Amino acid sequence: ARTLELQNILDILPALTVYMEELNARSGRLERERDQYADLSLRDALTGIGNRRALETVLASDMPGTPLGLLMLDLDLFKSYNDIFGHQQGDIALKAVAGAMKNAMLRSSDMAFRYGGEEFTALLLNADRAAALTVARRVMDSVRSLGLPHPSSPTGIITVSIGVACRMPGEKLSIQELLTLADQALYRSKKSGRNTITMSSRRKKTERNTFRAGRGIVTLPISLDSLEKDREEYTQTAT
Ligand code: GH3
Ligand code: MG
Ligand code: MG
Repeated sequence: ARTLELQNILDILPALTVYMEELNARSGRLERERDQYADLSLRDALTGIGNRRALETVLASDMPGTPLGLLMLDLDLFKSYNDIFGHQQGDIALKAVAGAMKNAMLRSSDMAFRYGGEEFTALLLNADRAAALTVARRVMDSVRSLGLPHPSSPTGIITVSIGVACRMPGEKLSIQELLTLADQALYRSKKSGRNTITMSSRRKKTERNTFRAGRGIVTLPISLDSLEKDREEYTQTAT
């Protein structure tokens, strides 16, 4: 009786194996589908990069005090681009700019988001000022080398303005505060003629007389030409 019982089990074993495999495959499929949906809900439909919700998700999982670089990027004179070429062509340009931005971000821990409209954000984990400026410049160059014609732009092509803000190791700043700082820096880039990178700085006014104070925050507009020089300077003064 006992050998019969064992034989019965052995008989159904192949069928059982097939059934288990099928179950496994099915749960794998479900898992992939679920991941895909999760992924899609965090992706911007037009550009394929992270959307605002994705940024909020990262914001919620921030580790305070860890070094972080943040870029706010805004297309220059984009309303006029839409007016000239139409909204559809504008969308194509936005997609291209997002791609150029992503290509310019080399570390796997660098994250690109569409903040909204024609504004993008980059989060650079562990980036100090020098690194963040390097990425900002690379992004700017990458967009510029797309060479998308823009008749009413002074340069004749689509350009971007960027604001940069950094959190030093141990510094008590939330990503939300960094966003505000980067946004103020971006505003300054626009004010100084667009196609410009501005680094938000909280260094003391006395350290350099070109600082402009605002709400206890000083910003230093950086022209493209002086960027390399400033980069070295930041490298030297980084603590
Ligand atoms: P500035 O250099 O000061 O940023 O000038 P601007 O014209 O880019 O700024 P403004 O904020 O006046 O206009 C932004 C424009 O971006 C307005 C809107 O038509 C366009 N825009 C925003 N979102 C989209 C989008 O999803 N697709 C397209 N095609 N255009 C968009
Ligand atoms: Mg804008
Ligand atoms: Mg704009």
